[in-house]
Amino acid sequence: MDALVSLIYVSKAAHGLDAADIGAIHHGAQRENASRGVTGALLCYDGRFVQVLEGPAAAVQSVYERILADPRHHDVRLLIQGPTSERLFGQWSMRRVPEPDRRDRTVVAFLDQLQHEPNAMTQAHTALKLLLRLAAAT
Ligand code: FAD
Repeated sequence: MDALVSLIYVSKAAHGLDAADIGAIHHGAQRENASRGVTGALLCYDGRFVQVLEGPAAAVQSVYERILADPRHHDVRLLIQGPTSERLFGQWSMRRVPEPDRRDRTVVAFLDQLQHEPNAMTQAHTALKLLLRLAAAT
């Protein structure tokens, strides 16, 4: 069986992308991922996407390659990709995490890291912490 992997990236939303577009991305992702055994979470905040994908290595790679080619975002930056022993978002084919409060300190730290922290591993750690907390919030 294919090894279980997890992948986190960040990207910038295309100019003019609205709430309906983001809703369509989310619904499409849920449909596609469910048929491939891929789970994860997606946040769109302040014109940026943060996404975690987890599942069998080949399935995650194939979804990620399609995401890379999608014109609805750009500047896709892979933060981390590798084997994992468990799924952190296993109950969601793609959880759309609610937008955080702008005063949320983890969000402020994350946005600050995106601009100033060169270490992708540190960014991935903060991104995951943020997504897990927001995903569990409702
Ligand atoms: P097709 O549906 O055949 O489309 C052909 C091309 O047009 C592709 O490059 C596609 O990206 C692009 N496209 C499709 N719809 C639009 C549109 N409305 N406007 C402009 N271009 C469009 N897919 C998943 O399967 N799982 C995910 O978890 C996932 N997460 C995503 C997260 C983000 C931030 C974004 C932007 C996209 C995500 N997608 C996800 C969608 C993914 O990028 C592909 O669009 C989708 O998988 C369909 O791929 P396809 O090759 O079958 O493209």
